Amino acid sequence: MPESNFVDYVKIYCRSGKGGRGSMHLRHVKYNPNGGPDGGDGGKGGSIYLRGNHNYWTLLHLKYQRHVFAEHGGNGGRDKCHGTDGKDQYIDVPCGTVVYNAETGKYVCDVTYDGQTVLLLKGGRGGLGNFQFRSATNQAPRYAQPGEPMEEMTIILELKLLADVGLVGFPNAGKSTLLSSLSSARPKIANYPFTTLEPSLGIVSYHDKQSFVMADIPGIIEGASEGKGLGLRFLRHIERNSLLLFMVPGDTDDIKKEYEILLNELRNFNPEMLDKHRVLAVTKCDLLDDELIEMLRETTPDDIPVVFISSVTGQGINELKDVLWKELNSESNKLQDITAEDTLVHRDKDLSTLPQELLKEGEDEIVFVDDEDIEDIDDYEDLDDVEYFDIDEDK
Ligand code: GDP
Ligand code: MG
Repeated sequence: MPESNFVDYVKIYCRSGKGGRGSMHLRHVKYNPNGGPDGGDGGKGGSIYLRGNHNYWTLLHLKYQRHVFAEHGGNGGRDKCHGTDGKDQYIDVPCGTVVYNAETGKYVCDVTYDGQTVLLLKGGRGGLGNFQFRSATNQAPRYAQPGEPMEEMTIILELKLLADVGLVGFPNAGKSTLLSSLSSARPKIANYPFTTLEPSLGIVSYHDKQSFVMADIPGIIEGASEGKGLGLRFLRHIERNSLLLFMVPGDTDDIKKEYEILLNELRNFNPEMLDKHRVLAVTKCDLLDDELIEMLRETTPDDIPVVFISSVTGQGINELKDVLWKELNSESNKLQDITAEDTLVHRDKDLSTLPQELLKEGEDEIVFVDDEDIEDIDDYEDLDDVEYFDIDEDK
C-alpha cells in the first residue's frame, strides 16, 4: 500500500532557547585601569509557537520533523554588550490541530483559526550583567546572573478536521457516494466495507453563493468506540463537526435500530457528541418503491429530521441540503461556535492506546525523547567568564 498522505498524528520534541548568561566583567584599559563593572546582559532565548495556517490540510509536512529547537540567547559581553536574542520558532499547523503533552497525555492547547499563534514553550530570560548590579556600596560587583533555563516538551499534534457536517454511518451506507454527488470531492466508492480509509472533505455549494463543508469519515462498526475496526481513530474527526448526518440504507431491516446503534457508539466515544444537531438520511431510496417509503416513514425516529434520498437518482438531495442548511444556521447551532474555545472539550490522551502511526520509521516502541539530541538542561553553569584584573599588567 502506498504511504498515505493523510497524516493526522505527529510527535515532536520541542525545546525553547535558554537565556544568555549575564557577563561579569571589570573594565581595565590603559589610563583607566579601574573602569568599573561593564558586563552586559544576556539575550533572551527563543520561544516556540504554534501557528494556524489554512494552507495546510494535514500534518504531512511535520511527519519527519523529529524536533524543533529555538535558539539560545547569546551571552552578555564586556563593554555592556547585550547578548543576541535567540530566534523564535513557529510550527505551522492546519486549523483544527490539538496539542497534547506526549509524556502525560494532557491536553495543552489547540489551534483553530488561520494566523492564530499560541505560545508553547517560553524562551528563558537573559541574565543581568554585573553592570546592572553596581551600587554605591558595591562599585565592582563580581557577580552576574545566569540566564533562565530552557523549557522542553514532547508534544503530540492531532488533527481534528473542521467541517460543518460530519457523515456518520456504517460501511456501505452510501456516505462516499453522497459526498461525491454533492461536492467535487472524489472519495473511493465500492460495494465493500472500509473503502474510505481516510477522511475526505467536500465543499457543498448551496444556492450559488453559500456553501458548507462536509466530511466523509470512514465507517464505524459496532464496538468502534472500544477500539474495534477502523472506527475509533477516525471518530475523533467528527468531534468538531457542528452537525451530524446519520446515514442508514433504506434496505436495512430496522432503520430505527441501526440509528440507535450508531448513536450509542457516539455516546460511548464522547457523550458530548450527542449535544450536536442530528439529521437522518435514509439512503439508496431508488431501491425502494414509493409505497415502501411511506411505510418506512412511520418507523423512523421522530425526534430528528429524516430525509429519504438516493445519490443515484438525486431523489431527496435538494431537500437534504435544505434541511442541513437550516440546521446549520439555526440559533442553537451557529457555525462560529466551532471556533469558540469553550464549546470544545478535549479529553486527555490515554497513552496506552496511542496508535502505531506515531512510531517513526525504524522505531518499534514509542521513544519520546532522543537523548542524543538534547543538551543537558542544567548546563548553564556559573559565572565562568570572570576576569580578574591585575593593575600591574597594564602599567
Ligand atoms: P460508504 O462506505 O458509506 O462510503 O458507502 P459508498 O458510498 O462507498 O457506497 C457503498 C455502495 O453503495 C456502493 O456500491 C455504491 O454504489 C452504493 N450506493 C451508494 N449510494 C447509493 C444509492 O443512492 N443508490 C444505490 N442503488 N446504490 C448506492
Ligand atoms: Mg466510503
